[in-house]
Amino acid sequence: MYQKKENKLFKIIQIPILTDNYSYLISDENSAITACIDPGNFDEIDKCLKENDLKLDYILSTHHHIDHVGGNLLLKKKYECKIVGNYHDRDRIPGIDIELKDSETFSVGNNDLIVIETPGHTVGHICYHFEDNSTLFSGDTLFSLGCGRLFEGSCEQMVESILKLRSLPGNTKLYCGHEYTESNAKFAFHLNSTDEKLKKKIQQIQKKREKSEPTIPSTISEEIELNPFMKFDDKKFLDLIGIKNISDEENFKKLRKMKDEF
Ligand code: ZN
Ligand code: FE
Repeated sequence: MYQKKENKLFKIIQIPILTDNYSYLISDENSAITACIDPGNFDEIDKCLKENDLKLDYILSTHHHIDHVGGNLLLKKKYECKIVGNYHDRDRIPGIDIELKDSETFSVGNNDLIVIETPGHTVGHICYHFEDNSTLFSGDTLFSLGCGRLFEGSCEQMVESILKLRSLPGNTKLYCGHEYTESNAKFAFHLNSTDEKLKKKIQQIQKKREKSEPTIPSTISEEIELNPFMKFDDKKFLDLIGIKNISDEENFKKLRKMKDEF
């Protein structure tokens, strides 16, 4: 009889690398296919692959920043893996082999992903959504309680990108590119120090960080509730933090500026 072995089919290994980055291994034990999301560094990923007795079949790059692609070429050389990235960023993703566009799908063993283009942090940023596994790898677009700085894209683009992520099912687990949650929480609390749910979340965050445990994953529904950058069109929230509601873009711009200057 067929038995569903969900965990075995989609195992995620979270690897803290560099100063505060997260890289992830996803492995499908049925097909023995493994992918690494954003290997910012060779040594730490290589070590983790060895420890877990895994080979590497694919690298999934979210964007071209060195803390996300720093390990691409050495891992490709050692494991002969294929590198997946945004077609529009094919000149900036080191070693890219498989170029995908928005809404295109790709399979890692038995697990299918869909590409969500989310320009803003960089113009070629993409997120990887494993819909059947309720899992999103958001790179530096959306963090727990925060979002990426706008290095290349416009506020208009970032708002569009956030709206795309906001429309995902609430139970989607959010695996982002950095452990920024504690500092993001300080800004969120500064904006709204009376939110009981936020206070409770901050206590949980602090407990985890005291033990050097990750605060990631979060979920889309938690972010919709608590992340200020998900609330650029929430009139009550804008009133509370003293932003006059003009347009999504203008509101977001002010919010982002407040955070950048915090
Ligand atoms: Zn980045
Ligand atoms: Fe980064």
